[in-house]
Amino acid sequence: MVRIETQPWETMVEHARRVYPNECCGVMLGKASNGEKRVSRAVPLDNAWQGEQRARYELRPEDLLAAEREARAQGLELIGIYHSHPDCDAYFSETDLKNSCPWYSFVVLSIQRGAFGHANSWLPNAEQTAAEKEELICGE
Ligand SMILES: [Zn+2]
Repeated sequence: MVRIETQPWETMVEHARRVYPNECCGVMLGKASNGEKRVSRAVPLDNAWQGEQRARYELRPEDLLAAEREARAQGLELIGIYHSHPDCDAYFSETDLKNSCPWYSFVVLSIQRGAFGHANSWLPNAEQTAAEKEELICGE
């Protein structure tokens, strides 16, 4: 289960709306204990995808490393990665699966006509062949 506190949740939604109709991406920092992950910080990152960004995002490996270092410096963990789906449902696409890593939660925000629609969190398997939906609580 992933619980995203109000402040990071607002950061994520605002980021997704700001870059609409493109996809946004960023990382979620927080703590994990007893099977519950609690996100206390969201860090917006650049979408580094060189092509059309309406249906694709890419994180720079160095941005991800910097975020990991920042998390550690604050006594937090990198809980997962978020990105948006402009005018699409918050499903986990084949591309998302291919670019995933099994140790992170992947939160997808569906933005419909510039407004927040819904969100899901996904846990990819180690083979990157499927992702399981994870319980997600936002803004608490
Ligand atoms: Zn996606």
